[in-house]
This record gives sequence, C-alpha cells and structure tokens, in this order.
Amino acid sequence: MTSARDLLRSRPEGLCCPEGQFFIDPVRPVERALITHGHADHARAGHGAVLATKETLDIMRLRYGEGFAGTVQEARPDEAISINGMRITFHPAGHVLGSAQIAVEANGARIVASGDYKRSRDPTCAPFEPIPCDVFITEATFALPVFTHPDPTHEVGQLLTSLKQFPERTHIVGAYTLGKAQRVIALLREAGYGETIYIHGALAKLCAYYESTGVPLGPLQAATVEEEGEAPPAGTVVVAPPAAIDDRWSRRFADPLACFASGWMRIRQRARQRGVELPLIISDHADWNELTDTIRETGAGEVWVTHGREEALVRWCELNGIMAKPLHLAGYEDEAE
Ligand SMILES: [Zn+2]
Repeated sequence: MTSARDLLRSRPEGLCCPEGQFFIDPVRPVERALITHGHADHARAGHGAVLATKETLDIMRLRYGEGFAGTVQEARPDEAISINGMRITFHPAGHVLGSAQIAVEANGARIVASGDYKRSRDPTCAPFEPIPCDVFITEATFALPVFTHPDPTHEVGQLLTSLKQFPERTHIVGAYTLGKAQRVIALLREAGYGETIYIHGALAKLCAYYESTGVPLGPLQAATVEEEGEAPPAGTVVVAPPAAIDDRWSRRFADPLACFASGWMRIRQRARQRGVELPLIISDHADWNELTDTIRETGAGEVWVTHGREEALVRWCELNGIMAKPLHLAGYEDEAE
C-alpha cells in the first residue's frame, strides 16, 4: 500500500514521482515535467512534455519561444489528470499569475507540492487555497519568526507619500519582472494613482500579457530615454528589474530615487547595501506566520521543507507535533524575490 511519502522524492533533477514517472519543477531537462509557475528557476525550457496551467504555459512561451517543450498540456483548475495511475490536480498558490500547487494522489494518500506561495492579498492572481493532505511540501524563503511582511497597501502608501514629498525626483521601483512588477503597478492603481507609469523594456511583454488576461494595469509607457523629450517627466514612477535600479540605466532619469519592492527589504542592511533609499516590503512569498498558519490549515501530518531556511520551520513543526524534514533540492534561488 502506497503511503503519501512514497509518492514523491528528491532527485538531482528535482522532485520526482517514481511511479508516475514525472518531475515537478525539474532543474534539468526531463521527459515529463509538471510546472508550478513561470519563474525561471521553476520553469525551464527543454523538457519533453510539460503540464502546467494555461497562464504558466503562456508565460513560458513568452520567455522561451514556441518550442520551449516537446509537447504541452494545460492543467485546468480542479480538473483531475491521470498520469501512470497518479491522480494530479492543480490548485491556486497565490504567488504570481498562473501559479499552482500540485496535488498528487494514489490509493487515498495525498501529497501537495506547493511550489512558491503567499497568503497576502494580490490583485493580480488567484488566492492560495489550502488543500487538505497527508504530506505538505512547503517553501521556506522567509521561514524565520523575524519575517513578518506588512500590509502591501501600507508599503505602496509609503511610495505615494514619497512622490508627494519629492515631486522633482524620479521614483525608480525595482521589482522582479514576473509577478512583483505587475503587483506593484496594480496596488498603485488600487491606491488611486492614475498617472502614466513608465516601465523598463524587460517588463513590456509580461505587463501586456497580464492585461490580456484581465488584470488592469492602467496607463503604461516605455521608459525609453534615447530620444529627446521621451524621458519620463520628473516626479513619475518607473518600474524596472531590480538589477537596473543601481546601474547606469537608472542614472539617465531626473534625480533618481531608488526603491526596491522585496520581502528582503525587512533587513535594512540589505537595503543599504543596494543603495535603496526607499525599501518597500512587498513579498510574493509567505512570511513566518503565513507559513505556520498554512501548515496547520492543510492538516498535514508530515511536512517537507525546501528552498530557504529549512531548519527553523522543521523545528517549529516538531514542536507542534508534526513530523518534518528538510528536503534538499538544488537549483532554486530565493534572491530573485
Ligand atoms: Zn517563484
């Protein structure tokens, strides 16, 4: 009789289902991959067959081109798919557009690989749904009690206050290209900011894609400064990938003020190191309380902890009577958050 913990195991290629003969978010090319979401460390090109949500498939196509996999199959919400006797379902993870947890079931035992997830509100994607399971696999990017993310509307409020205080300065917001950038823009719109927002070229396709799925981002314009008169006026918001905020790209704007939207901005030292004047603690990963609440809500008797600070969360589980172990999976980065 199969138990939930036999359904998946760690291999150098990634999380493997030996009986189902597939991998979840493999870091090397495999015959059959199930992908939780479009971030580059989870969704790689070159697999034989890929099963993912429509949005994740679209995002992979946007990033890698049409031939990113041999064949693709769309996982529809709450539709069960059978692979070599395994029952597979995809459920929203609340991380970025199209992000999903993947539940694998056989003989009444269920394991859930949650990928990356968060519980705080995000107007750009479907909210996380806790799935009852025997074994829950959780990320641990911010798995220390010191990490408590504030309400993102408060952080966006800080940005709007700064825009009023420094009307001559261009506010350059560093935000990860997929998910964070669109979330920051959508939060600004919710807060009533109706001005044109200027975006770095690396964001253009993904912002257009989000809008095509029904996520309104308001007036956007390319932040080009090549030609005279095209530079964003002073006092505007420019959204760019994090690497662009402290390089030459940002110095072309009027008196740039570097902002960075990341869960890591909780650590002031990191903000200082990167020359960030206005840190915005906006995270697409669960904080400590979200992680522990989620583990409780799933009712899982066993938890596997991966990519991040595994030890503290494993210890918390043990203290709360839940079996737990770190799952050492190589090839995922938490710095990109
Ligand atoms: Zn991610």
